[in-house]
Amino acid sequence: MKLAVPVGPLGQQADVVIVGAGILGINQLYRAVRAGYSALLLEQGDGVGGTWYWNRYPGCRFDSESYTYGYLFSEELWQEWDWSEEFAPQPETERYLNRVVDKFGLRPHIRLNSRVSSAVWDAEGCQWTTGTEDGFQVRSRYLIATTGVLSVPQYPDVPGREDFRGATYHPVRWPKEPVDLRGKRVAVIGTGSTGVQIGPAIAGEVESLVMYQRSATWATPLNNHPIEAEQQAYLKANFAPIKAALDASVGGFLHQPAGKKWTDDTPEQRQEFFETVWNSPGFAKISTNYDDLIFNTEANADWCAFMAGKIRGIVSDPATADKLIPTDHLYVGLRPPYVTGYYEMYNRPNVELVSLRESPIVKVTETGIETSDGLREFDVIIWATGFDFGSGAMLRMGIVGEGGLTLNDYWADGPLTYLGIMAHGFPNFFFPGGPHGAAGNNPRYGELQILFVQGLIDRMRARARARIEVPKADEQAWMDMIAQLEAYSPFQKRGQYYGVNTPGKPQAYLLNPGGRPKLDEFMAKAADAGYPGFFEGETS
Ligand code: NAP
Repeated sequence: MKLAVPVGPLGQQADVVIVGAGILGINQLYRAVRAGYSALLLEQGDGVGGTWYWNRYPGCRFDSESYTYGYLFSEELWQEWDWSEEFAPQPETERYLNRVVDKFGLRPHIRLNSRVSSAVWDAEGCQWTTGTEDGFQVRSRYLIATTGVLSVPQYPDVPGREDFRGATYHPVRWPKEPVDLRGKRVAVIGTGSTGVQIGPAIAGEVESLVMYQRSATWATPLNNHPIEAEQQAYLKANFAPIKAALDASVGGFLHQPAGKKWTDDTPEQRQEFFETVWNSPGFAKISTNYDDLIFNTEANADWCAFMAGKIRGIVSDPATADKLIPTDHLYVGLRPPYVTGYYEMYNRPNVELVSLRESPIVKVTETGIETSDGLREFDVIIWATGFDFGSGAMLRMGIVGEGGLTLNDYWADGPLTYLGIMAHGFPNFFFPGGPHGAAGNNPRYGELQILFVQGLIDRMRARARARIEVPKADEQAWMDMIAQLEAYSPFQKRGQYYGVNTPGKPQAYLLNPGGRPKLDEFMAKAADAGYPGFFEGETS
């Protein structure tokens, strides 16, 4: 592969600097290198993989089907990589991403242990100067942050949290060395997608496990299974149609919509249908459910009643079952987790559920956690309390744009973006996979953004331009779309998607409520018009 501007692997000048070696950063690097740009990727960890590098906690795995999550840019890669399970565990995904980096010769373009602490736009030279905590600096025409929406750990503001003398972990900073939990008294705080994966993975080995739940969520079975030879052969033989289906899918899944509404069925048919949905894989609970499930509250409540019946059927203690059944939101009111053995684990004598709504945390002590009903002592506390979602990583990079404008100031009331990719006042800067992305199978949606960014950079090169900036009016149009369609979002105005879980963060919707259709529409509109006003010397 020939580079347009040959630089040493860690050269201090590059066409493109990318930050973050996660699933999207590796994809963006692959595109840049393949198109002949000199490119350098800075990664804060000492390995590649992003989410799949950091989240080494017990039970961590996909909840999108493995083969729909991986890269589709190389059929050769598809043919040679065998996913072992429908929903692969973290170590396998980390291996996959390392394989991709090596197969496509990307490793020489990656600088590890490089946490970006500053990125400053030089208006005169039309370049970014990006610096890392260890004093490394690189200048580049383009800066691309693929830092992810779920990368900055969130710890709750609980009195005494630092006083605990046992071991504490956040799942996204789980140690590389094995953690021996055998015979330990363990607390897991939080029952989001992470907490409900950890619990069942460790319940069998620990002496005792207490799950601290603030909000119950509608967790349903992941229904994972090994990929046997027959399915493997089917996947290999069908790369092109599978890719075409995923490229056309709104959510980035292969699931087929039900094609019927709740109102089309009798009560008996609904129960039968819900049984099929309950037994379907992962997100198919949403995408293959009744077409009107999310917006017909009667239909949604019926599905919730069905799930509540399932929970009561699995959990032997009725009081525990009651606590596990959400009463404050319908399905997809919060991001639903997908689980294996989660409800079943509460039938073990060594597992207890504490509802923090009934007995809130008073404080963490040196030996345990005190709630309003007393002190429980632990050897280990796992803070599965989520992330500073969406903008967290980007706002910690010291980004300074045109005229000294900091990204933190520009986003003081919440992110302002164009397509969740660019921000006015920050020329030559892109952040695919950042705030205002869709909820769905993220690599598929993110890839659209990566291709858009690569397309703009190629256009700049072809036209010998040095500067690109999204016009304010285009950013405003995207923000207006978000404000308008947010009203139809099923998500409640709490938790990560509104930044409400992060103390001091402004409450602002952090997803794209128009999803892929709106992204496609805006992208096509900009391309058809020739990106008026985006390039230096043009007016909008
Ligand atoms: P999360 O969904 O934000 O859940 C955090 C949990 O901690 C919630 O139960 C929350 O309760 C609780 N919590 C937060 N602050 C608390 C406090 N001060 N006191 C008590 N409890 C507190 O975070 P997550 O579980 O890490 O998941 C985040 C996202 O990561 C998911 O939405 C998903 O996109 C992704 N993920 C995916 C997978 C997968 O299977 N592929 C696995 C894990 C995570 P409240 O709900 O009441 O705030």
